[in-house]
Amino acid sequence: MSAPRLSFSQLRRGPLVLVNREHSLPGTAAPELQRVWDGAPDVLLERRAAELLRRCVCAAGGWGKIVPVSGWRSRAEQQRIWDDTLEKEGEAFARQFVALPGCSEHETGLAIDLGQGGGAVDFIRPAFPETGACGAFRRLAARYGFVLRYPEGKERVTGIAHEPWHFRYVGVPHARLMEEAGLCLEEYFDFLRERPRRCVLENGLSVTARYVPWDGMARELELPEGCWQLSGDNASGFVLTVWEMAA
Ligand SMILES: [Zn+2]
Repeated sequence: MSAPRLSFSQLRRGPLVLVNREHSLPGTAAPELQRVWDGAPDVLLERRAAELLRRCVCAAGGWGKIVPVSGWRSRAEQQRIWDDTLEKEGEAFARQFVALPGCSEHETGLAIDLGQGGGAVDFIRPAFPETGACGAFRRLAARYGFVLRYPEGKERVTGIAHEPWHFRYVGVPHARLMEEAGLCLEEYFDFLRERPRRCVLENGLSVTARYVPWDGMARELELPEGCWQLSGDNASGFVLTVWEMAA
């Protein structure tokens, strides 16, 4: 496997890319997308996120009990949702629940809005309760790499109202580390900046995540042979994740 390479373009790529009001996404090409469920042919996610979502929904009780409401959105689609919501609900509501075009995680293909199946589903604010299959999904999500992106109590950090239906794929070790420490994505990078963090997965692999600040110098990182992943944070650095057999 080739070495991880730090570069300006990599800063905007990977499962940990931060997209919010302060960190917009440049208008880049669409990620490699996949349908998440045949019952909702228009809902697409990035390939790996789609695969893990299917596994998690299956473990939580299956599609039908849970329905995908909105996944990847193009910039034009986000603009249309913003314009529609602004017109129908007014600016205060739109600012609370709809991100400005370029500032929506949905444009990454890593975010999904989920609803409870079996009835009418609200597109902007779908019901996703704590009970039944939805509750089971919540409890299992981190094991499959998903986090509740806008939790209650983090509104001042995320800048977004509590959204019990919006989940974000960040990858398994990161979702587990964030859940264990009670952190949202904005806070997670500071947590890694303090020191590298380690977690041991159920399959016996040990994973270490560390923050590498971007100093503007494109270069390769030297690593011993092994499995790694490099994700930009769309701000000031990268998260390098390395998997090893636990000693
Ligand atoms: Zn959403």
